[in-house]
Amino acid sequence: MDMQFVSVVKLCIKKLCILFLNILFPRQCELCNNTLGNIEAEYLCSNCGNNIEFLEGMRCRICCRPVGIASNAICSECVSRKVYFSECFASGHYDDGLRKLIGRFKYGKKRYLAAAIGKRMVQSGKNLLNDNTDIITYVPIHWHKRWKRGFNQSEELAQVVSKEYNIQLKELLSRIKRRHGQVSLGRDDRKRNVEDIFEVVDKELVKGKSIMLVDDVITTGSTVNACAKTLIKSGAVNVRVIVAAAVF
Ligand SMILES: [Zn+2]
Ligand SMILES: [Zn+2]
Repeated sequence: MDMQFVSVVKLCIKKLCILFLNILFPRQCELCNNTLGNIEAEYLCSNCGNNIEFLEGMRCRICCRPVGIASNAICSECVSRKVYFSECFASGHYDDGLRKLIGRFKYGKKRYLAAAIGKRMVQSGKNLLNDNTDIITYVPIHWHKRWKRGFNQSEELAQVVSKEYNIQLKELLSRIKRRHGQVSLGRDDRKRNVEDIFEVVDKELVKGKSIMLVDDVITTGSTVNACAKTLIKSGAVNVRVIVAAAVF
């Protein structure tokens, strides 16, 4: 039988199955609870999906804040910092829709939302495909937090990014200390709070490698910077960061 015909039939059957499943169990938008009209929409209605904007325009390549003219620029705040990663890509600003979506994923323990958030990250970091990345890894969380949540949100996102880019995912870092929550701390305290709390799992995996580090949200960048420092000191040649959202 003609292979093209077979694949068209398979696709039709798949679409019909999705259609019936949607009639039997109508799915709702994760953000506004409206019934999803588009049977292929993954988790958001088109309205909520369109309201989450990608970061456009010139951005500081470290913290993703909007900057004036030159591309590849660093903002005045980042210029005076010791930064161990070469650039950071964020899929959006941590507000409204994206903030809610990440909140449902992380605190609502909706693990499946990693797919929707991770795909946005890949879309926004499309040009990363042209660069050489050897390994994708993620920011580790303390085992206690992981046990309470049931998963590490950064690892879940890294899995999606790794699959979409077809680049191997490896656990390169472990957390050696539990730290206090970052939210209530100022920039200097945040930095001290995360310094030297990571170690590499195996130096041989890191040596000479160009690494893409995945996290969910970047605020001051202290956490990813501490991870990048550990990786660079263990012999990584380059660390770049990709996150779901940036706070600025
Ligand atoms: Zn919606
Ligand atoms: Zn900056």
